[in-house]
Amino acid sequence: MPRIDGDRLLGDLRRIAEFGRYKTGVHRPHLSPQDVESRRWLCDRLREAGLEPMIDGVGTVIGRSPGKGPRLLLGSHSDTQPRGGWLDGVMGVIYALEVARAFREDPGTRDIGIDVASWADEESHFVSLLGSRSFIGTLAEREIDEAKHREDGTPLREALAAAGLADARRARLEEGRYRAYLEAHIEQGGVLEATGKRLGIVTAIVGSHQFRLAFSGQQNHAGTTPMKMRRDAGVAMMRLFNDIQDRFPRHAAERSVWTVGRMSIEPGAPAIVPGRAEMLFQFRDTDPAVLQRMEAALMEIVAEHQQRGPCAVECVNVSRSKPVAMADDLQAVLERAAERHAPGRSMRMPSGAGHDAQILGLRIPAAMLFVPSIGGVSHHYSENTADADIVLGCRVFADAAAEILAAA
Ligand SMILES: [Zn+2]
Repeated sequence: MPRIDGDRLLGDLRRIAEFGRYKTGVHRPHLSPQDVESRRWLCDRLREAGLEPMIDGVGTVIGRSPGKGPRLLLGSHSDTQPRGGWLDGVMGVIYALEVARAFREDPGTRDIGIDVASWADEESHFVSLLGSRSFIGTLAEREIDEAKHREDGTPLREALAAAGLADARRARLEEGRYRAYLEAHIEQGGVLEATGKRLGIVTAIVGSHQFRLAFSGQQNHAGTTPMKMRRDAGVAMMRLFNDIQDRFPRHAAERSVWTVGRMSIEPGAPAIVPGRAEMLFQFRDTDPAVLQRMEAALMEIVAEHQQRGPCAVECVNVSRSKPVAMADDLQAVLERAAERHAPGRSMRMPSGAGHDAQILGLRIPAAMLFVPSIGGVSHHYSENTADADIVLGCRVFADAAAEILAAA
C-alpha cells in the first residue's frame, strides 16, 4: 500500500502558501504574478514526481503520468479568493501530488497512473470554473475572448499573454483515459466539527438558481409625500424579502439554503422616497425537484406583489446550475477507506459550495472528500484545519485511490 509522508505533505502546503502570503492566509487570484509563480513551482514538483507537467492555454496545470496502467485524475485548484485562506483548493492539489509520489515510490503501484490537476480560476476572477470547463470541452473560445477580470477589468487574453500562455494549447479530457476523478477539499463549513467527525464523503454538489429582482416606484420628496400616496420601491423590496423568509421554509428541503446577497436602493438619500430598488437572490439544493419547487414559490410571491402594487416588480434569472451527484461506488470506496483510518469518524454530506468536481462529474465518475474547517471558517485568511486532519485526509484519499485502481 502506498505510504503518505505527512511531513512532506505539510511542508509542501506551507511552501506553496508563501506564494502570495497574506497574514496567515494567501492572496493568489488566478494569473496574478504569485499565481503564475506557484504554478511553475508546482510543475517542478510534478516533474520530480515523475509526471510530465504542462501549464495549458487557460492556466491549468496538468501533470500526466507516463505509466500505461489504469489511471485516475486527482486535483483541485490553487488559485484563491482575495485575501483568502491557505488551504481552500490547494490542499487538494498537494494531496494529488503527494499521492502521485507515494504511488511512484511503492514498487506495487509504480506503473499505476495518477494524473494531477490544478484547475484554472475556480474562484471566478475571470470565468467561473474556467480550467475544468475548458478541460471537458464546454468553454467556447469566445468566452475566453470576452472575459475580463472582475475587479480591474484586465482582459483574460491579456493576462494569459502576460503569463506567457498566449500560444499554449488547452488540455482536453482524453476519452477513456481515466477511471475516475477524485478531489479533496476543506469543508468550508462547520458541520464536521460540530458533529465530531473528521472526514466528509460528498454525496452531491448543490445546484444554485440566481435571480435579480428590480422594483420600480416613484421617486419623490420624503417630507411632502404623504405615506398613503407613496410608491416606495425600498418598502416594496423589503415586503417581498419578508415573504421569501416566511414562506420558503415550506417549500425547501432540510439542507436547502437561500440568500439575499445584495440590496440597493436608489437614489439612496435620506430625504428622498426611493424610486428604484434591486436585490440579488439565490437558493441552493442538491435535488432538482426542490430547486424547481423553490423557483415556483419565488414566482408565486413575485406575481402576488406585482398584482398588489403599488410598485412594479421585475424578476430576471441570472443563472441556473444543476446539482451533480457524486458516483455511488466511489462514495462507498471513500467511506471504507475512512472507516479503516478513523472508525466512526466520517459522514456523508452534500457540498453547499461549488467545486471543479461538479464539472468533471459531468463527463467521468467523480467523488469528493472533505476534511474539517476549524470554526467552519473559509474565504478568509484565518481559515485553517488541524495538521492531523490534513494528514489523515491524505491517507484516506491515497487508500481510496489504490482501491479504485486495484479494481480497474
Ligand atoms: Zn475551493
